Amino acid sequence: MSRKDCFYCKKDEQLTNLMIEICKMPSSILYLNRDQTHKGRCIIAFHSHKRELFELSEIELTSFMKDVSMAAEAIQKVFQADKINYAIYGDLISHLHFHLVPKYKGKTEWGEAFVNSPESKVLLNNGENKQRIETILDQLNITRGI
Ligand SMILES: [Zn+2]
Repeated sequence: MSRKDCFYCKKDEQLTNLMIEICKMPSSILYLNRDQTHKGRCIIAFHSHKRELFELSEIELTSFMKDVSMAAEAIQKVFQADKINYAIYGDLISHLHFHLVPKYKGKTEWGEAFVNSPESKVLLNNGENKQRIETILDQLNITRGI
């Protein structure tokens, strides 16, 4: 897969059908996943088209992981998740990205791997998405000291 076939690079409707941009971070872009089966689920994509963590320089890797960590912290604080699950798959869309999936004790898929694309999704309306994004962004700005 090259940049021209990659929706993370093209930022086309294939991407916006799946996620909504929350903000740009130093090495990445943070998105709210439209499927909110796991309340607060996000995706964080590296800012350029790389496939594997080992393709990043040490500086890029450190910066990306810092973004991932800050985003996860904000999600945990906002939604009071009991654990954040981190997943990098990318078999089909190889552009380096983490799924950040908050998990809750006793709730959906607690104690097991989350289903990436469940048949039955929890989709929010525009107002609810906007509110969720603003809440994450506010917390992220507190974490980032902005
Ligand atoms: Zn890409």
